[in-house]
Amino acid sequence: MVISLRSVYLYTKNTLSNQFDTAGQEAKELVMAITGASAADLYLDRQVEISLEQQAKLESLLKRRMAHEPLQYLLGEWDFYGRTFVVGPGVLIPRADTETLAVVCLSFLKGKTAPRVLDLCTGSGCLSVTVASEQPDAEVWAVEKSAEAWRYFCRNNETYGGKVRGIFGDVLTELPELPDSFDLILSNPPYLTADEMRDLQPEVAKEPEMALFGGEDGLFFHREITARYAGRLKPGGMLAYEIGMGQQQKVSEILNNSGLKSICQTPDLHGIIRVVTAENKFS
Ligand code: GLN
Repeated sequence: MVISLRSVYLYTKNTLSNQFDTAGQEAKELVMAITGASAADLYLDRQVEISLEQQAKLESLLKRRMAHEPLQYLLGEWDFYGRTFVVGPGVLIPRADTETLAVVCLSFLKGKTAPRVLDLCTGSGCLSVTVASEQPDAEVWAVEKSAEAWRYFCRNNETYGGKVRGIFGDVLTELPELPDSFDLILSNPPYLTADEMRDLQPEVAKEPEMALFGGEDGLFFHREITARYAGRLKPGGMLAYEIGMGQQQKVSEILNNSGLKSICQTPDLHGIIRVVTAENKFS
């Protein structure tokens, strides 16, 4: 049937508005995804032909959303640092907060020639692919152990030129394929605490526990990765972590105890310290 985009939008928004404050924005994204309309089409309230399949698809997505499946999984893609990444059940959704880690890493790499970079727990690949795309002469390695996440990483890497050298494996084991040393090692590891895991927002609870849970105090991976990888930084190299709210003191101590120097904490756009870095200063 031929119908005005605005009426599809209002129907979608009204359905969502019982449960979600963000109903307007979400309805816009869903209607654009289902109809292929642009934001301008929606604004101009163009008429569109909606097939029975499209109506059924919209109903099924609304049902999943009302059951608190994340919008990003329904859309099947989400933007990070100006690029679109394929996402879905089984992989952590790229967060705007994580762009802070991307910015810190890219500014460290700026001006370096052919730096070698390692991204641990890469997930969808949003960080490794961003670094490889923004700093094209970098040699970027990425490690992921979840088979489901690995498939998203491979697709995303392929979309942006296949520049990242991916390793399907566990960062807590020996990975013989990896080079010995790096200019930059970065990670957004799982860092939610046991308490936080008990009290997850329903949408976040649909994301893989493996990508969220960082042990009792949330810092298991920061400790393990520091112990295993600090010694693999080149002189002047940097280790960079994303952290959860309030973890900066403890993560800074972990880095300090490992002998790294120049510990630096960076806030995200909400003013929450989101990134902690440390450097291998030769003495
Ligand atoms: N930033 C995610 C959240 O707050 C957690 C992701 C992670 O543990 N790295 O839900």
